[in-house]
Amino acid sequence: MIGSPFQSDQPLIIERSCLMRFHDHAKSALPHEAAALLTGYDHHITDLVPIEVMATPETFSLSPQLLLQELHKICERKQEWIGLIHSHPTMPPIPSSADTTGWHYPMLSYWILSLAAEPAEVALYRWIENSWRNYPYEVK
Ligand SMILES: [Zn+2]
Repeated sequence: MIGSPFQSDQPLIIERSCLMRFHDHAKSALPHEAAALLTGYDHHITDLVPIEVMATPETFSLSPQLLLQELHKICERKQEWIGLIHSHPTMPPIPSSADTTGWHYPMLSYWILSLAAEPAEVALYRWIENSWRNYPYEVK
């Protein structure tokens, strides 16, 4: 149910439609941050599940209960949870200190879409050896 997308040592692949859907979701949540779960298999992200969060313009937090409910549905669809994407309405796509304290799944991918620039920027990170490391990805 919980994937390990970095295990294969290959760039993660994300479907363009996932990024487009999240871009729309992030815009509709302005001025607050928004988030979504990324699902698929192995290192391929094929689907996106917007998730309701408690958010401000510079933070978001996931409800553990809601997360469990969504993970249950992902499991029923025989997919893996591969990562989380969230938006930065006015800041660049760099993890904040709130991102660091709020992220508890270092085996998964952590994506930030920044609406601060036009077009929006997307960056991928992994929490490893006590710091955020930027990773390459391919949009398909
Ligand atoms: Zn953030």
